[in-house]
Amino acid sequence: MSITPLMPVYPRCDTRPVEGDGVYLIGESGKRYLDFASGIAVNLLGHSHEGLIKAVQDQAAKLMHVSNLYGSPQGESLAQRLVDNSFADTVFFTNSGAEAVECAIKAARRYHHVAGNPHKTDIITFNNAFHGRTMATISAANSAKMHDGFTPLLPGFKYCDFDDLEGAKALIDENTAGFLVEPVQGEGGIRPASKEFLQGLRQLADEHDLMLVLDEVQCGMARTGTLFAYEQYGIEPDILASAKGIGGGFPLGACLATEKGAQGMVIGTHGSTYGGNPLAMAAGEAVLDAVLAPGFLDHVNEMGERLRGALQQMIGNHPDMFESVRGMGLMLGVKMKPEFESRPFVNWMREGAGLLAVAAADNVMRVLPPLIITEEHIHEFVSKLSAAADEYKAQAND
Ligand SMILES: *Cc1c(COP(=O)(O)O)cnc(C)c1O
Repeated sequence: MSITPLMPVYPRCDTRPVEGDGVYLIGESGKRYLDFASGIAVNLLGHSHEGLIKAVQDQAAKLMHVSNLYGSPQGESLAQRLVDNSFADTVFFTNSGAEAVECAIKAARRYHHVAGNPHKTDIITFNNAFHGRTMATISAANSAKMHDGFTPLLPGFKYCDFDDLEGAKALIDENTAGFLVEPVQGEGGIRPASKEFLQGLRQLADEHDLMLVLDEVQCGMARTGTLFAYEQYGIEPDILASAKGIGGGFPLGACLATEKGAQGMVIGTHGSTYGGNPLAMAAGEAVLDAVLAPGFLDHVNEMGERLRGALQQMIGNHPDMFESVRGMGLMLGVKMKPEFESRPFVNWMREGAGLLAVAAADNVMRVLPPLIITEEHIHEFVSKLSAAADEYKAQAND
């Protein structure tokens, strides 16, 4: 038998983390890595955050799981806090981002179903988007690579260029249910939507009675400097998918909606065995305790500006290798010159300099540090990155 016990769907590298220490990961051999990847925007409080550990430990000792057949004081409390701090009136808890997007898609379709328009099922989505790996969420993304071998896809998605408002408008017809869009594309290469685009989608949704669904699985939860990214666009969605950072490392996702957006989600329409269990709620509460504490978002914004500035200065010293820095808050991307691919360079940084970042589409290196970083971490990251770039070029020329 040659297949590995762990199904070989990931190109896993030789770094094998066994412990975390704040902003650092520690490998099997004891090597320390400065983690500016954060489990892909998950570990927003770093790796050994006292409040998060204590919340999960205490709750694990008290009650880990009960069925959704019973009342949930834990779920009510976390849902109320999310409602109090966002556009939403109601929340469905999931275990992952894809499930949060699934719930969002179902809510958008049900909205029209109960409004007497069951033919309105189609959702307009955008090229280079990523919404997850379930059948519905791969169908929602226009990616031949993700579709390969998995057809037939779920019908009801129409694709358009990201940030192309006229293109989106042209796709609207009598069967359209809504839009599904990331305010800042993550996997697609840290591409923030323009204000005109998101505001335009909001306006089209209002004019045509469509659902505006935001996928903030990666860009939400304080990553861009506001609790949710939409706040910086001067709009509010009808439905929003959150996950990744919301559990700080504990598997947790959430589908947030207005009362209108969730009007079809009545008893019996949706469910999840684990979704919203007390252990996950405890993790979510601990994350919100930290993120909503006075000064936390200010810190994210300040560190975001400093990191962006330092990266900008760094790329100025390597104009042959890096093109630009883009993104919002601590969701940053460094676009590389076509002569240098981001993926092998990210590997080089990890092996050579002990720096963790993540490659993304469009030849971008994603920089997604824990939101608790300090200036010292930024200095360490950027100076080691600059040295790694020099060494990379030297070995490439050998
Ligand atoms: C990661 C991601 C998802 C999928 O989340 P999973 O927890 O992996 O299912 C969906 N949308 C966006 C924007 C993401 O970045």
